[in-house]
Amino acid sequence: MSERKPRKILEYTVECPICRRNFKIEEFLYDMPLVGEIIISSGKCVNCGYRWNDVRLAEIKGPRKIVVEVRDPNDVNALVVRSSTASIVIPELGVEIIPGPASLGYITTIEGILLDVLDKTSFLCEEGDAPPETCAEKKKMIEKARNGEVPFTFILIDPEGTSTIVSDKARILPLEKKEKEGEK
Ligand SMILES: [Zn+2]
Repeated sequence: MSERKPRKILEYTVECPICRRNFKIEEFLYDMPLVGEIIISSGKCVNCGYRWNDVRLAEIKGPRKIVVEVRDPNDVNALVVRSSTASIVIPELGVEIIPGPASLGYITTIEGILLDVLDKTSFLCEEGDAPPETCAEKKKMIEKARNGEVPFTFILIDPEGTSTIVSDKARILPLEKKEKEGEK
């Protein structure tokens, strides 16, 4: 019987990006069903409360991108392991999630990422950064995509090869030069 409980493998201290005090990070190895071994990193600053989490495959696969053509409502249920260095691009919806220095890694589904994009779009719209028609149109498109009414291409650009998508529709492709360099 294999042990399914996360096992602590490492603990280290870095500088908190917010308050510059000591920031302890713990790493756990976990054998995740359908995915395999993953490493979960988790840290919280005891001084300012800043939190950081990451998740990555234990086995590094090398630079690659993973593409899922979403064509029916079930496709959005595909599990996504997105490490903090991976980008997400959905050309049909104008979505580009590019990792920054404080980027987090997470495990979610394609639908979970669409909901996150919807939240951020609503926030930007309330801030008045885009004309209301554009906002309403974009939100409608994302809702339709979520319900499988609009086909779209979900692309995970993974320069370190530590992310994955659990779907029988997932195709693994090499990175193009500009994607390796992290340019748009
Ligand atoms: Zn702090």
